[in-house]
Amino acid sequence: MPRTRLVWHLFLGWCLLVAAVLAGCFWLGSVQIGTLATEGERQRIEELGRRLATALAPADRDTAACGEQLRQFAATTGLDVELVDPAGETLASAPPRARSTNRGGSLPQPTTSGRTASGSRYDVGTGRRILTVAVPHGPPEAPAFVVRLTADTTVSDAAVGRAVRRLSAGSLACGGLAIALGWLLARRAARPVEELCDAAARLAAGDVDLPLPSTELAEVAGLSAALGRLREQLVERGLTIGRQGTQQEAVLGSMIEGVLAIDARQRIVGMNRAAADLLNVDLDGVLRRPLQEVIRNPDLRRFALLAIDCREPVEDDLVLRAARDRTIRLRGTALRDVSGEGGAVIVLNDVTDIERLENVRRDFVANVSHELKTPVASIKGFVETLLDGALDDPADSRRFLEIVGRQADRLASIIEDLLALSRIEQSEGSGNLPLEPTPIADVFAAAEADCGPRAAERSIRLATDCPESLVADVNPPLLEQAVINLVDNAIKYSDPGRTVRITADLEGSELVIRVVDEGTGIDAEHLPRLFERFYRIDKARSRKLGGTGLGLSIVKHIVQAHGGGVTVESTPGVGSTFTVRMPATR
Ligand code: ADP
Repeated sequence: MPRTRLVWHLFLGWCLLVAAVLAGCFWLGSVQIGTLATEGERQRIEELGRRLATALAPADRDTAACGEQLRQFAATTGLDVELVDPAGETLASAPPRARSTNRGGSLPQPTTSGRTASGSRYDVGTGRRILTVAVPHGPPEAPAFVVRLTADTTVSDAAVGRAVRRLSAGSLACGGLAIALGWLLARRAARPVEELCDAAARLAAGDVDLPLPSTELAEVAGLSAALGRLREQLVERGLTIGRQGTQQEAVLGSMIEGVLAIDARQRIVGMNRAAADLLNVDLDGVLRRPLQEVIRNPDLRRFALLAIDCREPVEDDLVLRAARDRTIRLRGTALRDVSGEGGAVIVLNDVTDIERLENVRRDFVANVSHELKTPVASIKGFVETLLDGALDDPADSRRFLEIVGRQADRLASIIEDLLALSRIEQSEGSGNLPLEPTPIADVFAAAEADCGPRAAERSIRLATDCPESLVADVNPPLLEQAVINLVDNAIKYSDPGRTVRITADLEGSELVIRVVDEGTGIDAEHLPRLFERFYRIDKARSRKLGGTGLGLSIVKHIVQAHGGGVTVESTPGVGSTFTVRMPATR
Protein backbone atom coordinates (compact mmCIF):
# COMPACT_ATOMS: atom_id res chain seq x y z
CA MET A 1 0.00 0.00 0.00
CA PRO A 2 1.47 3.37 -0.91
CA ARG A 3 2.44 5.36 2.14
CA THR A 4 1.48 9.04 2.42
CA ARG A 5 3.11 11.48 4.77
CA LEU A 6 1.07 12.70 7.70
CA VAL A 7 1.52 16.33 6.65
CA TRP A 8 -0.13 15.59 3.29
CA HIS A 9 -2.96 13.71 5.00
CA LEU A 10 -3.70 16.65 7.24
CA PHE A 11 -3.20 19.22 4.48
CA LEU A 12 -5.42 17.48 1.91
CA GLY A 13 -8.15 16.99 4.52
CA TRP A 14 -7.94 20.65 5.38
CA CYS A 15 -8.07 21.66 1.69
CA LEU A 16 -11.18 19.57 1.12
CA LEU A 17 -12.81 21.12 4.18
CA VAL A 18 -11.90 24.65 3.07
CA ALA A 19 -13.17 23.98 -0.46
CA ALA A 20 -16.46 22.53 0.84
CA VAL A 21 -17.03 25.43 3.26
CA LEU A 22 -16.13 28.05 0.66
CA ALA A 23 -18.31 26.45 -1.99
CA GLY A 24 -21.22 26.33 0.46
CA CYS A 25 -20.70 29.91 1.54
CA PHE A 26 -20.33 31.08 -2.04
CA TRP A 27 -23.51 29.36 -3.08
CA LEU A 28 -25.46 30.70 -0.12
CA GLY A 29 -23.97 34.17 -0.59
CA SER A 30 -24.69 34.38 -4.31
CA VAL A 31 -28.26 33.13 -3.82
CA GLN A 32 -28.73 35.63 -1.00
CA ILE A 33 -27.37 38.49 -3.11
CA GLY A 34 -29.72 37.60 -5.96
CA THR A 35 -32.67 37.32 -3.58
CA LEU A 36 -31.90 40.59 -1.84
CA ALA A 37 -31.42 42.41 -5.15
CA THR A 38 -34.73 41.11 -6.54
CA GLU A 39 -36.54 41.89 -3.30
CA GLY A 40 -35.11 45.44 -3.24
CA GLU A 41 -36.16 46.00 -6.86
CA ARG A 42 -39.58 44.56 -6.17
CA GLN A 43 -40.09 46.83 -3.15
CA ARG A 44 -38.97 49.87 -5.16
CA ILE A 45 -41.37 49.04 -7.98
CA GLU A 46 -44.17 48.31 -5.49
CA GLU A 47 -43.61 51.66 -3.82
CA LEU A 48 -43.72 53.39 -7.21
CA GLY A 49 -46.85 51.41 -8.07
CA ARG A 50 -48.57 52.50 -4.84
CA ARG A 51 -47.76 56.09 -5.44
CA LEU A 52 -49.07 55.83 -9.00
CA ALA A 53 -52.23 54.07 -7.84
CA THR A 54 -52.85 56.81 -5.31
CA ALA A 55 -52.32 59.43 -7.98
CA LEU A 56 -54.66 57.63 -10.41
CA ALA A 57 -57.53 57.10 -7.96
CA PRO A 58 -59.21 60.52 -8.24
CA ALA A 59 -59.00 60.40 -12.06
CA ASP A 60 -62.26 58.52 -11.89
CA ARG A 61 -61.19 56.20 -14.58
CA ASP A 62 -60.85 58.78 -17.21
CA THR A 63 -58.96 56.61 -19.62
CA ALA A 64 -57.40 59.46 -21.52
CA ALA A 65 -56.23 61.19 -18.38
CA CYS A 66 -55.00 57.89 -17.01
CA GLY A 67 -53.19 57.16 -20.21
CA GLU A 68 -51.44 60.51 -19.99
CA GLN A 69 -50.46 59.91 -16.38
CA LEU A 70 -49.21 56.48 -17.21
CA ARG A 71 -47.05 57.80 -20.06
CA GLN A 72 -45.50 60.40 -17.79
CA PHE A 73 -44.87 57.75 -15.19
CA ALA A 74 -43.29 55.37 -17.67
CA ALA A 75 -41.14 58.14 -19.03
CA THR A 76 -39.81 59.16 -15.63
CA THR A 77 -39.32 55.67 -14.13
CA GLY A 78 -38.43 53.67 -17.24
CA LEU A 79 -41.00 51.07 -16.27
CA ASP A 80 -43.82 49.63 -18.38
CA VAL A 81 -47.09 50.29 -16.67
CA GLU A 82 -50.68 49.00 -17.14
CA LEU A 83 -53.92 49.91 -15.53
CA VAL A 84 -56.04 46.79 -15.15
CA ASP A 85 -59.64 46.55 -13.93
CA PRO A 86 -60.60 43.89 -11.35
CA ALA A 87 -61.76 41.60 -14.17
CA GLY A 88 -58.27 41.61 -15.64
CA GLU A 89 -59.04 43.90 -18.56
CA THR A 90 -56.29 46.40 -19.41
CA LEU A 91 -57.75 49.85 -19.24
CA ALA A 92 -54.66 51.79 -20.22
CA SER A 93 -50.96 51.18 -20.59
CA ALA A 94 -47.71 52.91 -21.32
CA PRO A 95 -46.32 52.25 -23.70
CA PRO A 96 -49.73 51.51 -25.25
CA ARG A 97 -50.68 47.95 -26.41
CA ALA A 98 -53.79 45.97 -27.22
CA ARG A 99 -56.35 46.09 -24.45
CA SER A 100 -56.54 42.41 -24.00
CA THR A 101 -52.82 41.78 -23.91
CA ASN A 102 -51.73 40.45 -20.58
CA ARG A 103 -47.98 40.82 -20.26
CA GLY A 104 -48.15 39.26 -16.87
CA GLY A 105 -48.94 35.95 -18.52
CA SER A 106 -49.19 33.46 -15.80
CA LEU A 107 -48.50 36.05 -13.07
CA PRO A 108 -50.82 35.96 -10.05
CA GLN A 109 -53.81 38.15 -10.46
CA PRO A 110 -53.71 40.76 -7.67
CA THR A 111 -57.27 41.70 -8.35
CA THR A 112 -58.55 38.42 -7.07
CA SER A 113 -56.26 38.12 -4.08
CA GLY A 114 -56.47 41.82 -3.20
CA ARG A 115 -52.77 41.87 -2.26
CA THR A 116 -49.65 42.97 -4.05
CA ALA A 117 -48.24 40.22 -6.23
CA SER A 118 -44.93 39.93 -8.04
CA GLY A 119 -43.13 37.55 -10.30
CA SER A 120 -40.31 37.34 -12.79
CA ARG A 121 -39.68 35.46 -16.00
CA TYR A 122 -37.20 35.30 -18.82
CA ASP A 123 -38.08 36.88 -22.03
CA VAL A 124 -36.81 34.34 -24.51
CA GLY A 125 -36.85 36.87 -27.30
CA THR A 126 -34.63 39.44 -25.59
CA GLY A 127 -32.90 37.06 -23.24
CA ARG A 128 -33.65 39.38 -20.32
CA ARG A 129 -35.32 38.88 -17.02
CA ILE A 130 -38.59 40.69 -16.56
CA LEU A 131 -39.94 41.59 -13.10
CA THR A 132 -43.62 42.30 -12.80
CA VAL A 133 -45.34 43.79 -9.74
CA ALA A 134 -49.14 44.13 -9.52
CA VAL A 135 -50.34 46.67 -6.96
CA PRO A 136 -54.11 46.69 -6.19
CA HIS A 137 -55.82 49.91 -5.11
CA GLY A 138 -58.77 50.02 -2.81
CA PRO A 139 -59.98 47.62 -0.15
CA PRO A 140 -58.28 44.24 -0.34
CA GLU A 141 -61.54 42.32 -0.72
CA ALA A 142 -62.71 44.56 -3.64
CA PRO A 143 -59.89 46.58 -5.20
CA ALA A 144 -60.91 49.35 -7.56
CA PHE A 145 -58.13 48.69 -10.05
CA VAL A 146 -54.67 47.24 -10.28
CA VAL A 147 -51.52 48.97 -11.42
CA ARG A 148 -49.21 46.47 -13.06
CA LEU A 149 -45.60 47.52 -13.42
CA THR A 150 -43.05 45.67 -15.48
CA ALA A 151 -39.33 46.26 -15.20
CA ASP A 152 -36.36 45.01 -17.17
CA THR A 153 -33.87 43.82 -14.46
CA THR A 154 -30.78 43.98 -16.67
CA VAL A 155 -29.21 46.73 -14.60
CA SER A 156 -29.90 45.14 -11.25
CA ASP A 157 -28.82 41.74 -12.60
CA ALA A 158 -25.53 43.27 -13.75
CA ALA A 159 -25.05 44.66 -10.23
CA VAL A 160 -25.84 41.21 -8.80
CA GLY A 161 -23.30 39.70 -11.22
CA ARG A 162 -20.65 42.16 -10.03
CA ALA A 163 -21.46 41.40 -6.42
CA VAL A 164 -21.22 37.68 -7.09
CA ARG A 165 -17.87 38.13 -8.84
CA ARG A 166 -16.59 40.11 -5.89
CA LEU A 167 -17.88 37.39 -3.61
CA SER A 168 -16.10 34.71 -5.62
CA ALA A 169 -12.86 36.73 -5.67
CA GLY A 170 -13.14 37.22 -1.91
CA SER A 171 -13.88 33.52 -1.47
CA LEU A 172 -10.85 32.57 -3.55
CA ALA A 173 -8.63 34.93 -1.56
CA CYS A 174 -9.97 33.54 1.71
CA GLY A 175 -9.53 30.00 0.37
CA GLY A 176 -5.91 30.75 -0.56
CA LEU A 177 -5.25 32.19 2.84
CA ALA A 178 -6.98 29.27 4.55
CA ILE A 179 -4.97 26.78 2.50
CA ALA A 180 -1.70 28.55 3.32
CA LEU A 181 -2.67 28.59 6.98
CA GLY A 182 -3.69 24.93 6.73
CA TRP A 183 -0.28 24.04 5.31
CA LEU A 184 1.42 25.79 8.22
CA LEU A 185 -0.86 24.08 10.73
CA ALA A 186 -0.40 20.68 9.10
CA ARG A 187 3.39 21.15 9.16
CA ARG A 188 3.23 22.20 12.77
CA ALA A 189 1.10 19.20 13.74
CA ALA A 190 3.11 16.71 11.69
CA ARG A 191 6.62 17.94 12.56
CA PRO A 192 6.79 16.43 16.09
CA VAL A 193 5.53 13.11 14.72
CA GLU A 194 8.13 13.21 11.94
CA GLU A 195 10.85 14.13 14.44
CA LEU A 196 9.72 11.30 16.66
CA CYS A 197 9.82 8.85 13.74
CA ASP A 198 13.29 10.11 12.87
CA ALA A 199 14.39 9.74 16.50
CA ALA A 200 12.95 6.20 16.69
CA ALA A 201 14.74 5.22 13.47
CA ARG A 202 18.06 6.59 14.75
CA LEU A 203 17.51 4.91 18.09
CA ALA A 204 16.90 1.62 16.29
CA ALA A 205 20.16 2.23 14.42
CA GLY A 206 21.95 2.51 17.76
CA ASP A 207 22.27 6.28 18.16
CA VAL A 208 21.38 6.74 21.82
CA ASP A 209 22.76 10.29 22.20
CA LEU A 210 20.08 11.96 20.08
CA PRO A 211 17.76 14.56 21.69
CA LEU A 212 14.10 13.58 21.76
CA PRO A 213 11.57 16.13 20.38
CA SER A 214 9.48 18.06 22.88
CA THR A 215 5.98 19.16 21.89
CA GLU A 216 2.76 20.48 23.40
CA LEU A 217 0.71 17.72 21.68
CA ALA A 218 -0.20 15.42 24.55
CA GLU A 219 -0.15 12.16 22.57
CA VAL A 220 3.12 12.92 20.84
CA ALA A 221 4.65 14.12 24.13
CA GLY A 222 3.56 10.79 25.71
CA LEU A 223 5.12 8.89 22.84
CA SER A 224 8.31 10.94 23.15
CA ALA A 225 8.47 10.21 26.89
CA ALA A 226 7.95 6.49 26.22
CA LEU A 227 10.74 6.61 23.63
CA GLY A 228 12.92 8.33 26.23
CA ARG A 229 12.29 5.50 28.70
CA LEU A 230 13.00 2.99 25.95
CA ARG A 231 16.28 4.75 25.24
CA GLU A 232 17.27 4.64 28.93
CA GLN A 233 16.52 0.92 29.02
CA LEU A 234 18.44 0.45 25.80
CA VAL A 235 21.45 2.30 27.20
CA GLU A 236 21.24 0.34 30.47
CA ARG A 237 20.96 -2.96 28.60
CA GLY A 238 23.76 -1.95 26.29
CA LEU A 239 25.95 -1.16 29.30
CA THR A 240 25.04 -4.47 30.93
CA ILE A 241 25.76 -6.38 27.74
CA GLY A 242 28.98 -4.42 27.32
CA ARG A 243 30.00 -5.18 30.91
CA GLN A 244 29.18 -8.84 30.46
CA GLY A 245 31.03 -8.87 27.16
CA THR A 246 34.10 -7.28 28.73
CA GLN A 247 33.99 -9.69 31.66
CA GLN A 248 33.56 -12.63 29.31
CA GLU A 249 36.39 -11.36 27.13
CA ALA A 250 38.61 -10.88 30.16
CA VAL A 251 37.80 -14.36 31.47
CA LEU A 252 38.33 -15.99 28.09
CA GLY A 253 41.44 -13.92 27.44
CA SER A 254 43.02 -14.88 30.74
CA MET A 255 42.36 -18.59 30.28
CA ILE A 256 45.30 -20.85 29.52
CA GLU A 257 42.89 -23.23 27.84
CA GLY A 258 41.75 -22.38 24.36
CA VAL A 259 38.01 -21.82 23.93
CA LEU A 260 36.29 -22.12 20.58
CA ALA A 261 32.56 -21.60 20.07
CA ILE A 262 30.80 -22.61 16.86
CA ASP A 263 27.21 -22.45 15.68
CA ALA A 264 25.14 -25.26 14.17
CA ARG A 265 26.63 -24.60 10.73
CA GLN A 266 30.15 -24.81 12.18
CA ARG A 267 30.79 -21.11 11.83
CA ILE A 268 33.08 -19.65 14.46
CA VAL A 269 31.15 -17.43 16.87
CA GLY A 270 33.85 -17.06 19.50
CA MET A 271 37.53 -17.78 19.96
CA ASN A 272 39.97 -16.68 22.62
CA ARG A 273 43.63 -15.80 22.18
CA ALA A 274 44.81 -19.13 23.65
CA ALA A 275 42.76 -21.10 21.08
CA ALA A 276 44.10 -18.94 18.24
CA ASP A 277 47.67 -19.54 19.46
CA LEU A 278 47.12 -23.28 19.87
CA LEU A 279 45.57 -23.65 16.41
CA ASN A 280 48.05 -21.19 14.92
CA VAL A 281 45.45 -18.87 13.37
CA ASP A 282 45.10 -15.10 13.27
CA LEU A 283 42.40 -14.08 15.74
CA ASP A 284 41.36 -11.06 13.65
CA GLY A 285 38.55 -11.76 11.23
CA VAL A 286 37.82 -15.35 12.25
CA LEU A 287 34.34 -14.58 13.53
CA ARG A 288 31.43 -15.84 11.38
CA ARG A 289 33.82 -17.76 9.13
CA PRO A 290 33.39 -21.54 8.68
CA LEU A 291 35.66 -23.55 10.99
CA GLN A 292 37.02 -25.58 8.09
CA GLU A 293 38.02 -22.46 6.23
CA VAL A 294 40.01 -21.16 9.19
CA ILE A 295 41.50 -24.47 10.37
CA ARG A 296 41.90 -27.13 7.71
CA ASN A 297 41.84 -30.19 9.91
CA PRO A 298 39.40 -33.05 9.20
CA ASP A 299 39.80 -34.47 12.72
CA LEU A 300 38.78 -31.18 14.30
CA ARG A 301 35.81 -30.96 11.91
CA ARG A 302 34.68 -34.47 12.86
CA PHE A 303 35.01 -33.61 16.53
CA ALA A 304 33.06 -30.36 16.09
CA LEU A 305 30.19 -32.26 14.40
CA LEU A 306 30.19 -34.80 17.20
CA ALA A 307 30.17 -32.06 19.84
CA ILE A 308 27.20 -30.33 18.17
CA ASP A 309 25.18 -33.54 17.92
CA CYS A 310 25.98 -35.23 21.25
CA ARG A 311 23.94 -34.50 24.34
CA GLU A 312 26.83 -35.46 26.62
CA PRO A 313 30.21 -33.70 26.61
CA VAL A 314 32.71 -35.42 24.33
CA GLU A 315 36.48 -35.67 24.63
CA ASP A 316 39.27 -36.57 22.24
CA ASP A 317 42.91 -35.89 21.50
CA LEU A 318 43.92 -34.03 18.36
CA VAL A 319 47.45 -34.28 17.04
CA LEU A 320 48.53 -31.15 15.20
CA ARG A 321 51.31 -31.98 12.79
CA ALA A 322 53.97 -29.30 12.60
CA ALA A 323 57.71 -28.97 13.00
CA ARG A 324 57.05 -30.12 16.53
CA ASP A 325 53.94 -32.30 16.82
CA ARG A 326 51.52 -31.17 19.48
CA THR A 327 48.75 -33.07 21.20
CA ILE A 328 45.63 -31.01 21.94
CA ARG A 329 43.01 -32.44 24.28
CA LEU A 330 39.55 -31.42 23.08
CA ARG A 331 36.47 -31.27 25.27
CA GLY A 332 33.28 -30.34 23.48
CA THR A 333 29.84 -29.49 24.86
CA ALA A 334 26.75 -28.92 22.75
CA LEU A 335 24.97 -25.59 23.03
CA ARG A 336 21.24 -25.11 22.70
CA ASP A 337 19.76 -21.63 22.90
CA VAL A 338 16.07 -20.78 23.39
CA SER A 339 15.45 -20.55 19.66
CA GLY A 340 16.61 -24.13 19.31
CA GLU A 341 19.72 -23.06 17.39
CA GLY A 342 22.54 -25.45 18.09
CA GLY A 343 26.27 -25.14 18.34
CA ALA A 344 29.10 -26.23 20.55
CA VAL A 345 31.84 -24.94 22.79
CA ILE A 346 35.17 -26.70 22.47
CA VAL A 347 37.85 -26.30 25.13
CA LEU A 348 41.37 -26.99 23.91
CA ASN A 349 44.22 -28.00 26.17
CA ASP A 350 47.80 -28.44 25.02
CA VAL A 351 48.80 -31.71 26.70
CA THR A 352 52.01 -32.17 24.72
CA ASP A 353 54.21 -31.34 27.71
CA ILE A 354 52.06 -33.33 30.12
CA GLU A 355 52.25 -36.36 27.81
CA ARG A 356 55.96 -35.91 27.40
CA LEU A 357 56.44 -35.62 31.15
CA GLU A 358 54.31 -38.67 31.65
CA ASN A 359 56.50 -40.55 29.16
CA VAL A 360 59.62 -39.24 30.89
CA ARG A 361 58.26 -40.37 34.25
CA ARG A 362 57.44 -43.84 32.86
CA ASP A 363 60.85 -44.10 31.22
CA PHE A 364 62.53 -42.88 34.38
CA VAL A 365 60.86 -45.53 36.55
CA ALA A 366 61.75 -48.20 33.99
CA ASN A 367 65.33 -46.90 33.73
CA VAL A 368 65.84 -46.67 37.50
CA SER A 369 64.50 -50.20 37.94
CA HIS A 370 66.71 -51.43 35.16
CA GLU A 371 69.82 -49.60 36.44
CA LEU A 372 69.29 -50.92 39.97
CA LYS A 373 68.37 -54.39 38.80
CA THR A 374 71.71 -55.00 37.08
CA PRO A 375 74.02 -54.46 40.11
CA VAL A 376 71.53 -56.13 42.48
CA ALA A 377 71.33 -59.19 40.19
CA SER A 378 75.12 -59.25 39.97
CA ILE A 379 75.53 -59.01 43.79
CA LYS A 380 72.89 -61.70 44.28
CA GLY A 381 74.57 -63.98 41.76
CA PHE A 382 78.01 -63.69 43.28
CA VAL A 383 76.71 -64.10 46.83
CA GLU A 384 74.89 -67.30 45.78
CA THR A 385 78.07 -68.54 44.07
CA LEU A 386 80.02 -67.85 47.23
CA LEU A 387 77.43 -69.61 49.37
CA ASP A 388 77.38 -72.52 46.95
CA GLY A 389 81.04 -73.27 47.78
CA ALA A 390 83.20 -70.60 46.20
CA LEU A 391 83.84 -69.33 49.74
CA ASP A 392 86.14 -72.30 50.21
CA ASP A 393 88.42 -71.02 47.46
CA PRO A 394 90.17 -67.96 48.94
CA ALA A 395 91.26 -66.60 45.54
CA ASP A 396 87.77 -66.89 44.01
CA SER A 397 86.02 -65.61 47.08
CA ARG A 398 88.22 -62.51 47.18
CA ARG A 399 87.66 -61.83 43.46
CA PHE A 400 83.90 -62.35 43.84
CA LEU A 401 83.71 -60.17 46.92
CA GLU A 402 85.59 -57.42 45.10
CA ILE A 403 82.97 -57.60 42.30
CA VAL A 404 80.19 -57.50 44.90
CA GLY A 405 81.91 -54.46 46.43
CA ARG A 406 82.14 -52.68 43.03
CA GLN A 407 78.45 -53.38 42.29
CA ALA A 408 77.53 -52.08 45.75
CA ASP A 409 79.54 -48.90 45.01
CA ARG A 410 77.70 -48.59 41.71
CA LEU A 411 74.37 -48.96 43.52
CA ALA A 412 75.50 -46.32 46.01
CA SER A 413 76.54 -43.86 43.28
CA ILE A 414 73.26 -44.38 41.38
CA ILE A 415 71.27 -43.76 44.56
CA GLU A 416 73.49 -40.79 45.45
CA ASP A 417 72.98 -39.26 41.96
CA LEU A 418 69.24 -39.88 42.11
CA LEU A 419 69.01 -38.18 45.51
CA ALA A 420 71.11 -35.26 44.24
CA LEU A 421 68.87 -34.96 41.20
CA SER A 422 65.75 -35.00 43.34
CA ARG A 423 67.18 -32.31 45.69
CA ILE A 424 68.12 -30.07 42.75
CA GLU A 425 64.73 -30.55 41.12
CA GLN A 426 63.05 -29.57 44.38
CA SER A 427 64.98 -26.31 44.70
CA GLU A 428 64.46 -25.74 40.96
CA GLY A 429 60.70 -26.20 41.39
CA SER A 430 60.42 -24.00 44.50
CA GLY A 431 62.67 -21.34 42.93
CA ASN A 432 64.39 -20.60 46.24
CA LEU A 433 67.88 -21.84 45.49
CA PRO A 434 70.23 -19.96 47.86
CA LEU A 435 72.64 -17.87 45.76
CA GLU A 436 75.66 -15.87 46.88
CA PRO A 437 78.22 -13.74 45.07
CA THR A 438 81.04 -16.22 44.37
CA PRO A 439 84.36 -15.84 42.54
CA ILE A 440 84.08 -18.33 39.67
CA ALA A 441 87.83 -18.95 39.88
CA ASP A 442 87.21 -20.52 43.34
CA VAL A 443 84.61 -22.86 41.83
CA PHE A 444 87.09 -23.86 39.10
CA ALA A 445 89.85 -24.43 41.68
CA ALA A 446 87.61 -26.75 43.70
CA ALA A 447 86.60 -28.68 40.55
CA GLU A 448 90.24 -28.94 39.49
CA ALA A 449 91.18 -30.24 42.89
CA ASP A 450 88.48 -32.91 42.60
CA CYS A 451 89.11 -33.96 38.99
CA GLY A 452 92.88 -33.39 38.97
CA PRO A 453 93.87 -36.86 40.22
CA ARG A 454 91.61 -38.60 37.66
CA ALA A 455 92.99 -36.41 34.87
CA ALA A 456 96.53 -37.12 35.95
CA GLU A 457 95.73 -40.82 36.07
CA ARG A 458 94.71 -40.64 32.37
CA SER A 459 97.51 -38.22 31.42
CA ILE A 460 95.06 -35.51 30.53
CA ARG A 461 95.91 -31.86 30.99
CA LEU A 462 93.41 -29.57 32.64
CA ALA A 463 93.61 -25.94 31.55
CA THR A 464 91.43 -23.35 33.29
CA ASP A 465 90.91 -19.81 32.11
CA CYS A 466 88.88 -17.57 34.38
CA PRO A 467 89.35 -13.90 35.28
CA GLU A 468 90.10 -13.57 38.99
CA SER A 469 87.66 -10.69 39.24
CA LEU A 470 84.74 -12.68 37.78
CA VAL A 471 82.11 -12.91 40.51
CA ALA A 472 78.58 -14.22 39.98
CA ASP A 473 75.49 -14.99 42.08
CA VAL A 474 75.61 -18.77 42.22
CA ASN A 475 75.16 -21.67 44.58
CA PRO A 476 78.85 -22.65 44.99
CA PRO A 477 78.49 -26.38 45.85
CA LEU A 478 75.96 -26.98 43.06
CA LEU A 479 77.88 -25.07 40.38
CA GLU A 480 81.01 -26.94 41.50
CA GLN A 481 79.12 -30.22 41.10
CA ALA A 482 78.02 -29.24 37.55
CA VAL A 483 81.54 -28.27 36.51
CA ILE A 484 82.94 -31.49 38.03
CA ASN A 485 80.40 -33.60 36.09
CA LEU A 486 81.28 -31.89 32.79
CA VAL A 487 85.06 -32.09 33.40
CA ASP A 488 84.72 -35.69 34.59
CA ASN A 489 82.96 -36.62 31.32
CA ALA A 490 85.55 -34.74 29.28
CA ILE A 491 88.32 -36.74 31.02
CA LYS A 492 86.42 -40.02 30.63
CA TYR A 493 85.76 -39.59 26.93
CA SER A 494 89.19 -38.22 25.94
CA ASP A 495 92.26 -40.18 25.00
CA PRO A 496 95.41 -39.81 27.09
CA GLY A 497 97.58 -36.82 26.25
CA ARG A 498 94.65 -34.58 25.35
CA THR A 499 93.72 -31.30 26.99
CA VAL A 500 90.47 -30.32 28.65
CA ARG A 501 89.88 -26.55 28.76
CA ILE A 502 87.57 -24.95 31.29
CA THR A 503 86.76 -21.28 30.65
CA ALA A 504 84.48 -18.72 32.24
CA ASP A 505 83.55 -15.27 31.02
CA LEU A 506 80.92 -12.59 31.22
CA GLU A 507 78.91 -12.12 28.02
CA GLY A 508 76.59 -9.20 28.60
CA SER A 509 74.82 -9.99 31.83
CA GLU A 510 75.43 -13.73 31.43
CA LEU A 511 78.00 -15.92 33.03
CA VAL A 512 79.24 -18.34 30.36
CA ILE A 513 81.22 -21.45 31.33
CA ARG A 514 82.64 -23.70 28.65
CA VAL A 515 84.16 -27.17 29.04
CA VAL A 516 86.01 -28.04 25.84
CA ASP A 517 87.62 -31.42 25.20
CA GLU A 518 89.46 -33.08 22.37
CA GLY A 519 87.78 -36.42 22.97
CA THR A 520 85.70 -38.88 21.01
CA GLY A 521 82.93 -36.42 20.25
CA ILE A 522 79.24 -37.27 19.96
CA ASP A 523 77.18 -38.14 16.87
CA ALA A 524 74.59 -35.48 16.03
CA GLU A 525 71.73 -37.98 16.45
CA HIS A 526 72.46 -38.29 20.18
CA LEU A 527 72.73 -34.59 20.93
CA PRO A 528 68.97 -33.84 21.42
CA ARG A 529 68.60 -36.55 24.10
CA LEU A 530 72.01 -36.24 25.76
CA PHE A 531 70.73 -34.47 28.85
CA GLU A 532 67.96 -37.01 29.57
CA ARG A 533 68.27 -39.21 32.63
CA PHE A 534 70.09 -42.49 32.03
CA TYR A 535 70.74 -41.59 28.40
CA ARG A 536 74.03 -43.03 27.37
CA ILE A 537 75.55 -43.49 23.96
CA ASP A 538 77.52 -46.60 24.85
CA LYS A 539 76.07 -48.21 27.97
CA ALA A 540 78.85 -50.75 28.44
CA ARG A 541 81.58 -48.14 28.13
CA SER A 542 79.75 -45.77 30.45
CA ARG A 543 79.37 -48.52 33.09
CA LYS A 544 83.00 -49.54 32.69
CA LEU A 545 83.99 -45.94 33.30
CA GLY A 546 81.78 -45.84 36.40
CA GLY A 547 79.08 -43.63 34.82
CA THR A 548 75.49 -43.70 35.98
CA GLY A 549 73.94 -41.92 32.99
CA LEU A 550 72.75 -39.17 35.33
CA GLY A 551 75.75 -36.81 35.19
CA LEU A 552 74.54 -34.52 32.37
CA SER A 553 70.97 -34.62 33.69
CA ILE A 554 72.29 -33.31 37.02
CA VAL A 555 74.19 -30.55 35.15
CA LYS A 556 71.05 -29.54 33.27
CA HIS A 557 68.94 -29.27 36.43
CA ILE A 558 71.63 -27.37 38.35
CA VAL A 559 71.91 -24.83 35.52
CA GLN A 560 68.13 -24.55 35.22
CA ALA A 561 67.87 -23.98 38.98
CA HIS A 562 70.19 -20.99 38.39
CA GLY A 563 67.83 -19.73 35.68
CA GLY A 564 70.11 -20.72 32.82
CA GLY A 565 70.61 -23.45 30.23
CA VAL A 566 73.24 -25.83 28.93
CA THR A 567 74.02 -26.72 25.30
CA VAL A 568 76.44 -29.00 23.54
CA GLU A 569 78.31 -28.81 20.25
CA SER A 570 80.31 -31.81 19.17
CA THR A 571 82.16 -33.23 16.20
CA PRO A 572 82.91 -36.95 16.30
CA GLY A 573 86.64 -37.53 16.42
CA VAL A 574 87.36 -33.84 17.13
CA GLY A 575 85.82 -33.11 20.49
CA SER A 576 82.89 -31.60 22.34
CA THR A 577 82.09 -28.23 23.84
CA PHE A 578 79.56 -27.99 26.67
CA THR A 579 78.38 -24.42 27.24
CA VAL A 580 76.60 -23.28 30.40
CA ARG A 581 74.82 -19.89 30.36
CA MET A 582 73.21 -18.38 33.41
CA PRO A 583 72.40 -14.89 34.73
CA ALA A 584 75.48 -13.49 36.52
CA THR A 585 73.46 -11.45 38.99
CA ARG A 586 70.00 -11.56 40.45
P1 ADP B 1 77.58 -41.02 32.20
O1 ADP B 1 77.51 -41.26 33.63
O2 ADP B 1 77.37 -42.22 31.36
O3 ADP B 1 78.79 -40.23 31.81
P2 ADP B 1 76.26 -38.64 31.54
O4 ADP B 1 74.89 -38.20 31.71
O5 ADP B 1 77.31 -37.84 32.22
O6 ADP B 1 76.38 -40.17 31.90
O7 ADP B 1 76.58 -38.66 30.00
C1 ADP B 1 75.67 -39.25 29.13
C2 ADP B 1 76.36 -39.76 27.90
O8 ADP B 1 76.88 -38.65 27.12
C3 ADP B 1 77.54 -40.57 28.21
O9 ADP B 1 77.21 -41.92 28.37
C4 ADP B 1 78.43 -40.35 27.03
O10 ADP B 1 78.17 -41.31 26.06
C5 ADP B 1 78.05 -38.98 26.49
N1 ADP B 1 79.05 -37.96 26.87
C6 ADP B 1 78.96 -37.11 27.90
N2 ADP B 1 80.00 -36.24 27.90
C7 ADP B 1 80.76 -36.55 26.85
C8 ADP B 1 81.95 -36.03 26.31
N3 ADP B 1 82.60 -34.99 26.85
N4 ADP B 1 82.45 -36.59 25.17
C9 ADP B 1 81.78 -37.61 24.58
N5 ADP B 1 80.67 -38.17 25.04
C10 ADP B 1 80.15 -37.64 26.17
